[in-house]
Parts: sequence; C-alpha cells; structure tokens
Amino acid sequence: MPFRKLKYNEIVLRYGVLHYTDTAELQKGSVKLPAYWVQENIIKQLTPYGVIYCNKRHSFDFEWIFREASLKNLKCNLKYGGCFVPRHVLWDPNRQLSAHTWGIAIDINVAGNAYGTKGNQDPALIALFAKRSFVWGGTWRGKSGPDDYSRCDPMHFEAGCKL
Ligand SMILES: [Zn+2]
Repeated sequence: MPFRKLKYNEIVLRYGVLHYTDTAELQKGSVKLPAYWVQENIIKQLTPYGVIYCNKRHSFDFEWIFREASLKNLKCNLKYGGCFVPRHVLWDPNRQLSAHTWGIAIDINVAGNAYGTKGNQDPALIALFAKRSFVWGGTWRGKSGPDDYSRCDPMHFEAGCKL
C-alpha cells in the first residue's frame, strides 16, 4: 500500500494540538474538547449513507468514498459506524487519543469487523479508501506475525500519508 498510518506527533502537527480534559460523560475513556476547536474543525457532511460528523479537511474524501460505494456497479456493503468521537484509543484513559478525536478516522460495518478479528470488509470498499490515502486497520497485526490478528481493527479507516 502506498500510504502509511500517521504517527501520533504527525497527527498533532497536521490537525492541531488538542487541549482536552478527561471525562466520563459519554463513557469512561471519552474526552472533552474546547468548543472553539470543534466549531473550527468538525463539520456535518451529507453522504448517500446519511449524515456524518468529520474533520473538514476530509469531508470531501468521505463524501466521495461513500458516493462511489453507493453507485450501482459497486454497491458496497457499507454501514456507517461513527467518525468524530472524542476519546482515547479503545476507550482506555491510559492510552493516547484516538484518531477519531480529530475526526480523521471512520468505523464502517462494525458488526462482523470487531477489533482483534480478521473481519469481512468488501475489498472494493478498502480500495476506495486507499484511493483517498486512507489506511485500513485490517492490515494491523500483533507482535507474533502476520497471522496474529490481536491488534487488527477491520472496521477502522484512518487518514494516512505517503510512504
Ligand atoms: Zn475506529
């Protein structure tokens, strides 16, 4: 794949420092962001699969991917599972912030694509995300090698950068 996942400090450089506070408002592991940051960076985007809230710098990517996926010749299996969600990775307050906090990651087809499983995403959908420089969590592996799906996150697509 010609794209790679952004490192945490690269996400901060590209999309901004977040002055967050931990909160259990939504559930344990969620964070509260300053209202000005959300107002300036997160927008509501209409897609053929419904409304999503995402980072304004990727709203056209999401719209394009969802529109292509909805076209007759592809008709990808696509159920939107969430994009902008201010929280820590895996809702664990001891981990760093999730890319969802910046609205640059999206979960698709949550049912059937649980964390730690191989999942069953449509290859055509994976290809659409790749075209817009998104990396797929379905390629992430644990430390024991290519068959170790312990860190695989097949529902998750995230804005990447060139290798
Ligand atoms: Zn995700």
